[in-house]
Amino acid sequence: MSRIAVIDYDKCNPDKCGHFLCERVCPVNRMGGEAIIIDEENYKPIIQEASCTGCGICVHKCPFNAITIVNLPEQLDEDCVHRYGINSFVLYRLPIVKDGMVVGILGPNGTGKTTAVKILSGQLLPNLCGDNDSWDNVIKAFRGNELQNYFESLKNREIRPVVKPQYVDLIPKAVKGKVRDLLKKADEAGKFDEVVRELELENVLDRDIKHLSGGELQRVAIAAAILRDAHFYFFDEPSSYLDIRQRLKVARIIRHLADSGKAVLTVEHDLAVLDYLSDIIHVVYGKPGAYGIFSQPKSTRNGINEFLRGYLRDENVRFRPYEIRFTKSSERTSQASDILVEYPRLVKDYGGFRLEAEPGTLYMGEVVSIVGPNGIGKTTFVKMLAGVEEPTEGEIDWELKVSYKPQYIKADYEGTVFDLLSKIDAAKLMNSFYKTELLNPLGIPDLYDKQVNELSGGELQRVAITAALIREADLYLLDEPSAYLDVEQRLAVSRAIRHLMEKEGKTALVVEHDVLMIDYISDRLMVFEGEPGRQGKALPPMGMREGMNRFLASVGITFRRDPDTGRPRANKEGSVKDREQKEVGEYYYV
Ligand code: ADP
Ligand code: ADP
Ligand code: SF4
Ligand code: SF4
Repeated sequence: MSRIAVIDYDKCNPDKCGHFLCERVCPVNRMGGEAIIIDEENYKPIIQEASCTGCGICVHKCPFNAITIVNLPEQLDEDCVHRYGINSFVLYRLPIVKDGMVVGILGPNGTGKTTAVKILSGQLLPNLCGDNDSWDNVIKAFRGNELQNYFESLKNREIRPVVKPQYVDLIPKAVKGKVRDLLKKADEAGKFDEVVRELELENVLDRDIKHLSGGELQRVAIAAAILRDAHFYFFDEPSSYLDIRQRLKVARIIRHLADSGKAVLTVEHDLAVLDYLSDIIHVVYGKPGAYGIFSQPKSTRNGINEFLRGYLRDENVRFRPYEIRFTKSSERTSQASDILVEYPRLVKDYGGFRLEAEPGTLYMGEVVSIVGPNGIGKTTFVKMLAGVEEPTEGEIDWELKVSYKPQYIKADYEGTVFDLLSKIDAAKLMNSFYKTELLNPLGIPDLYDKQVNELSGGELQRVAITAALIREADLYLLDEPSAYLDVEQRLAVSRAIRHLMEKEGKTALVVEHDVLMIDYISDRLMVFEGEPGRQGKALPPMGMREGMNRFLASVGITFRRDPDTGRPRANKEGSVKDREQKEVGEYYYV
């Protein structure tokens, strides 16, 4: 085995641990050795991997969980691609890039996906975990590998990469002007009309970029990438902000790009989209922030199934202690029976937009997911139940305690994550059920000392979900809990929602666009129909099969179930299964 030691210097605070506690407790140092030395200039500890015995004492003693020590198989050494510096993140192996193929990358954030893309797009010369300073050495290191030719072309500047960035909400800061001008400028492929039509951007062409919604920005960014005439395209999380229909549409458009011979790489956390989009998949595993390893390429189906099981067969690696299984909700035994509340017909009229919600019943212990296109009134409905918006007609006059996680979360709390959460319910932070089901899987204890107003989008989302779920209430309203979360965190949140509602007999209403999450958490479904931005109609909660059939028929997509994991898989449009299912009107269950 070879040993790597990683220190998260953002967490390390030698003044607050009693002055380099790790150095003082290290048995090697105590015997006069030098496993840990102090970098006086930067006032930080350095762990010398060659002297460290891997005893793990410093890992457990550091009060800020700043240290990771792992032993990895020695064979991996020759696959070491890049290390940012001493005691910093290490990346092993790279995904392949192939003309005519969409290669999907699946794994948690912080495991090196962006680093890999920077290397493949020529922005970062990998140091091969040593002092490499040339692309020639990289080509040598990848001799016999599928990437050898690719790196040769990269070195000869024959490859121009096009990247659709992850954070589309930052685009207005970098690009000014009208959508039409931006896309015209990008249009090297001469496909302006076609791409604008496919991505349904006609109505926003004359709008200023700074006035676009998240979903519009996402589609504009995807259009701008597709319009370029390049060789290698990278789409970083193309589904964020989009509804289910838009997600699968975008997936289809990206697929067409590969069908026309281009090489496409994508990172995507919505597994139904990734499944639909990819020809092959690499799973990335490791420890976020410490190291990441790209698996061998796998078939899309196997890759996703192995990921859900938490076990990679070829690699013989278990990377998660539990597996995720999907059961048809009709098979669920915990069918709710006691009525929590019957809500009346509710109307909200904003002038330009009108939502009408039919009356409905919610039961104790159930999770109801809310589905529908963007701009149809889902958030408006949830806000009325939360008491944040007054209905124009109808009245919410219940005595229920409601806990609400809004779609857009503000980080305006002054104080640490621990302060915020312990003010809501300090006892739950100590409760072992909440620790194992919610706090630990969401990585909340690691965030306790951070200031709420300094959290990243994903951290803030996890804290907001936790804050909503530890609050004592009868009804939990969660608006898009998957936004900003990586695939591993989505699975953790899904499990937490299900287990908490089952155990406590509480009710949750969840607005969601991630089909696997919806399938995993829901007992029933609430479908919103109408004309986005003009009028919406909320149907009462109904069974999953009826609800999904109703919803998917309007979207024109069918799903089948994977026989091994039970997960839903979108059928390719026009495939035998797609046609058969549409004929009998079974869009979801077969
Ligand atoms: P992902 O895209 O999977 O979220 P990244 O490739 O962005 O992961 O980052 C992997 C790890 O590498 C992160 O934990 C980050 O801390 C570290 N890292 C990224 N860039 C640098 C850098 N320039 N210097 C040191 N560490 C870095
Ligand atoms: P969804 O959650 O389904 O995406 P929303 O409930 O957020 O939809 O919005 C539905 C429609 O109502 C949108 O067209 C939106 O612009 C409009 N809307 C939302 N809030 C307001 C408001 N406070 N004033 C006027 N219009 C609003
Ligand atoms: Fe102290 Fe932990 Fe930093 Fe070591 S790594 S100096 S124990 S804070
Ligand atoms: Fe020292 Fe053990 Fe930490 Fe290595 S793991 S640096 S030997 S305390």
